[in-house]
Amino acid sequence: MSDCIFCKIVSGTLATPLIYEDDRVVVFKDIKPKAEVHLLVVSKEHIQSLAHVLEDQTSLIAHMMLLLPKLAKAQGLLGFKTQINTGKAGGQEVPHLHIQLLGG
Ligand code: 5GP
Ligand code: ZN
Repeated sequence: MSDCIFCKIVSGTLATPLIYEDDRVVVFKDIKPKAEVHLLVVSKEHIQSLAHVLEDQTSLIAHMMLLLPKLAKAQGLLGFKTQINTGKAGGQEVPHLHIQLLGG
């Protein structure tokens, strides 16, 4: 989506250093970190929120979830918190599927 900030990061239109990238996700630091380590795991595909994930996209969600402990370990974290804000009423500011990883 052309007006979506995370789509712009995925496409490279908005230059952001990436911590990790593969065919399905990008990972980068939150611009306003709420912890020593605060990463965003963002789907490359524009999906509005967790509430918009379809049954045939469950492998993407599994992929994103299983990436979290690997990213945490690479950041030197012994443990971490995970947050998925969903919908405006759930505090979601950016309407593009992402998981927040917080630690330290
Ligand atoms: P949420 O939608 O889960 O409530 O929050 C979105 C998160 O993305 C916020 O923690 C916010 O600081 C972060 N964020 C918003 N815009 C940008 C941006 O342009 N770059 C980066 N790196 N993070 C952003
Ligand atoms: Zn998007």
